[in-house]
Amino acid sequence: MPTIVVLGAGVSGLTCALELAKQGGHEITVVAKHMPGDYDIEYTSPWAGANVLPMALDKDSRWERRTWPVLRRLAKEVPEAGLHVQTARVLRREKDVATGLKAALADGLFQFDPWYKEVMDNFREIPANELPKGMHSGCEFMSVCINTAIYLPWLVGQCAKYGVQFKRGIVKHISQAHNLSHTGKKADIVVNATGVLACKLGGVMDKAVYPARGQIVVVRNEAKGFMPTSSGCDDADDEIMYVMQRALGGGTILGGTYMRHSWDPNPDPNIAVRIMKRAVEAHPELTDGKGIEALSIIRHGVGLRPAREGGVRIEKEKIDGTWVVHNYGHAGWGYQGSYGCAEKVVELVDEIVKQEKRQSKL
Ligand code: FAD
Repeated sequence: MPTIVVLGAGVSGLTCALELAKQGGHEITVVAKHMPGDYDIEYTSPWAGANVLPMALDKDSRWERRTWPVLRRLAKEVPEAGLHVQTARVLRREKDVATGLKAALADGLFQFDPWYKEVMDNFREIPANELPKGMHSGCEFMSVCINTAIYLPWLVGQCAKYGVQFKRGIVKHISQAHNLSHTGKKADIVVNATGVLACKLGGVMDKAVYPARGQIVVVRNEAKGFMPTSSGCDDADDEIMYVMQRALGGGTILGGTYMRHSWDPNPDPNIAVRIMKRAVEAHPELTDGKGIEALSIIRHGVGLRPAREGGVRIEKEKIDGTWVVHNYGHAGWGYQGSYGCAEKVVELVDEIVKQEKRQSKL
């Protein structure tokens, strides 16, 4: 039975472990420095909103296309997973359209006639008479919001149900991971799901990976009805606006920023004020029109999106004699692409197992 170590317990590692375990026929250990329940600047997944706002261009849309049906099913049929259905409202500002939407940070999200109109349920263009002031156009569709504080532990539970074992561990070099299987045997395959730390991990040291710093404010106020986001804001090029209410009492996330190459773990109070102002302007019902003073703050937070020049890395590579399947660099779409990417990881693991069996090594 092939032995697999999944290095990383963020949404990427956990989803891979689950999909591999569901297949059966593997002995799987998840090894990680940080696990669900931890909040740390080196651990991105707990900080995400998270919702589904398709970001890829059509040519790269496989990960998001393949993930959406799974997240939709979880939201509708598995309440204990911590997702609920919400309407996404995507708005293009007149001033951003005038500059060719160059400032918009998500490649595919703000495109006219986007590929995802065929994929996301209840897609509709917003009629001109419903658009807020200053908006050129926009669309709405059915999405989900994930309470990551519930969903990540739920993934751990699902993995455990299928026999996955969990171990804390810090590796300096990727090749150390293959000694960490709970079986005591050397792992045949290591799945590298180390997120932004892939740029610091020995044997990988991927210099294309960099943090895209996201600052958020979590509030008790409810954002009923819809999750707005817009193509830009007047405050700064690396600041954005989005609002989403998490399922199961997880509070409402106000975002945010997309600050490339910033490792700063500390919430900036000036940015926090700007985030709250933009959120209340876009969704006045948050405070019944009473402004940011009426926001009830749960906490401020910062997470580092694992961005990568050239996009996500999902491929196999032999390092120091051990097969490694990489799955990192998901930037701001790690949840909404998680099952699509895990599906590819399963394919690559299968290829390796078949190849090694042919050579009678497994
Ligand atoms: P991580 O969650 O960082 O996990 C990495 C794991 O690897 C950890 O367990 C860590 O301990 C382990 N690790 C790393 N190095 C080592 C080592 N050397 N030894 C042992 N263990 C190691 N995505 C969406 O889809 N929708 C959203 O709405 C959304 N909103 C976001 C908002 C914010 C503010 C932020 C910051 C991100 C958002 N994202 C969103 C992006 C999403 O959170 C990330 O893409 C995703 O969490 C990346 O997950 P990961 O598992 O690859 O990395």
